[in-house]
Amino acid sequence: MLEQIELIRRRVMLASSKAGLPKPARLVAVSKTQSVRKIDRLYQKGQRDFAENYLQEAVAKQASLPKDIIWHFIGPLQSNKTRAVAENFQWVQSIDRCRIAQRLDRHCQELGKHLNVCIQINISREESKSGVLPEDFKELYDCVRACQNLRLRGLMAIPSSSLHVHSASDLEKQFLAMQTLFHRIRDENTHLDTLSMGMSQDFERAIAHGSTMVRVGTALFGQRPENRSVEKDCFQKERV
Ligand SMILES: *Cc1c(COP(=O)(O)O)cnc(C)c1O
Repeated sequence: MLEQIELIRRRVMLASSKAGLPKPARLVAVSKTQSVRKIDRLYQKGQRDFAENYLQEAVAKQASLPKDIIWHFIGPLQSNKTRAVAENFQWVQSIDRCRIAQRLDRHCQELGKHLNVCIQINISREESKSGVLPEDFKELYDCVRACQNLRLRGLMAIPSSSLHVHSASDLEKQFLAMQTLFHRIRDENTHLDTLSMGMSQDFERAIAHGSTMVRVGTALFGQRPENRSVEKDCFQKERV
């Protein structure tokens, strides 16, 4: 019997080749709420990219996991957490404010490291959701590009339909809007190589719209405990 991770890898491969991507989309395992033991099992299967939404939880687990894991921070980011995030992660995909980018940049300078970052776009325009609105993107883009220690890799988004049942065309529209924005900025900045969109429910459709990185949680690990829904993780702006 095929392991779940093998199945997901195959589906990512197939969707990527159908979409004509030069290489398969990168599979990031979203390990929030998952145990060290489960994370290590995927690591043993060759998985190296893992993503977490909560700093404390991530740091606690990182301590007992292999050092060559590539950690992605994908949760809402508060300014009092930026230092620890800069220290403990290699990617931050949830940049949505200039002030946060500048703080990360300063910490990186002090730490003598670089961080790979994505700007998170609030493509569904939901009030409660993190991410910069498309019309405010340019200003944030210029801000992040001026940060010497941040390597801007691209864009991240959580379309509303990744979480709720919306019409298929609604989802297509949001994916398409992301693809269009990504292509536009990539044309002028050839370093950009990452369009991070697509989750357990919709990663194939995201890849069909040019996603180069999918963030998959439940389809790899199984359901999270009820009180830790995706809604809570993605929508809560300020956390204590
Ligand atoms: C939890 C989460 C995911 C993964 O969601 P699944 O539906 O479990 O695949 C992806 N991206 C973000 C930002 C998340 O918070």
